[in-house]
Amino acid sequence: TRVLGIEGTAWAASAAVYDSDADDVGSVFIETDAYEPESGGIHPREAAEHMHDAIPRVVERALEYARETHRDGEDGRPPDERSAPIDAVAFSRGPGLGPCLRIVGTAARALSQTLEVPLVGVNHMVAHLEIGRHTSGFSTPVCLNASGANAHLLAYRNGRYRVLGETMDTGVGNAIDKFTRHVGWSHPGGPKVEAAAEDGEYVDLPYVVKGMDFSFSGIMSAAKQRYDEGVPVEDVCYSLQENIFAMLTEVSERALSLSGSDELVLGGGVGQNDRLREMLAAMCDQRGAEFHAPDARFLRDNAGMIAVLGAKMYDAGDTLALEDSRVDPNYRPDQVPVRWRADEDD
Ligand code: ATP
Repeated sequence: TRVLGIEGTAWAASAAVYDSDADDVGSVFIETDAYEPESGGIHPREAAEHMHDAIPRVVERALEYARETHRDGEDGRPPDERSAPIDAVAFSRGPGLGPCLRIVGTAARALSQTLEVPLVGVNHMVAHLEIGRHTSGFSTPVCLNASGANAHLLAYRNGRYRVLGETMDTGVGNAIDKFTRHVGWSHPGGPKVEAAAEDGEYVDLPYVVKGMDFSFSGIMSAAKQRYDEGVPVEDVCYSLQENIFAMLTEVSERALSLSGSDELVLGGGVGQNDRLREMLAAMCDQRGAEFHAPDARFLRDNAGMIAVLGAKMYDAGDTLALEDSRVDPNYRPDQVPVRWRADEDD
């Protein structure tokens, strides 16, 4: 099965081609054009303008790749005259910014009609999880989604990915980005905090975990306050990382314990952080659990994960009629019937 994936929930205008018969996820073709705000964080209108400009470009590149690598392409015709050999168009249906999602949805519907192939609507958060399951080969992992706009712990049970715990306010990346905006650093802030933290020492900041849920707003306000009081920014960055990532690690451990799973996968752009990966790996090691983080190109937003899950959904017959293909900015992972794992139900 060969699927064209399109991603565009926030900053990444991305298109990918995945061939499940190649069975090597490393060979997924991904073309991404990132939106970089001139100042501040992500402005939904500007992000949508970026999608509008960039989606046709990245899709064209992906289709070019699909034509060039078409296995039946030795028909004597030059690559640009071959049909685009894909079996389905998969797109991120949500969650994400409404104006961006609508552009991606429109592009996907148009392509599905022009190329005369079915449409597959993918939940972006489930895609962050499934790409880790796919690249790890784990069967029933708990997944920590640590992305910009979200932070969830998910586990599979009876046909759905259940949300075991989540943030009570902002997503983890957005929380970090709010602090860096206050300090005057450009977006995205996560990598800058990671670099600054290397020279920092611990100062006291709030740590808020309530059962399986957690909150970032108090720690962000306190971090801004410490900075305004003159605490060195390296120390604030170090302490922010230590507390936020320890919170995520604590809840991940509880999720492993409650679900009985001994496999943890990481998803989302914040998963690119070495310190977070180090803490999760150490926790898993101590409990005898396995830990897996996919390559960075599959952690941050990317169409590769949409194409990979899109191919599984297509193979399970999970396609969308045009009239049912509306996007959903608040699409939750537990709304998705997991048909591609039907044989694994307990
Ligand atoms: P979502 O997937 O929830 O829609 P998103 O679209 O904002 O989120 P992602 O690509 O998953 O995007 O994550 C982007 C976030 O990752 C940004 O907030 C950025 O600051 C953060 N990030 C990137 N690199 C690092 C890093 N090394 N350390 C910490 N955070 C990072």
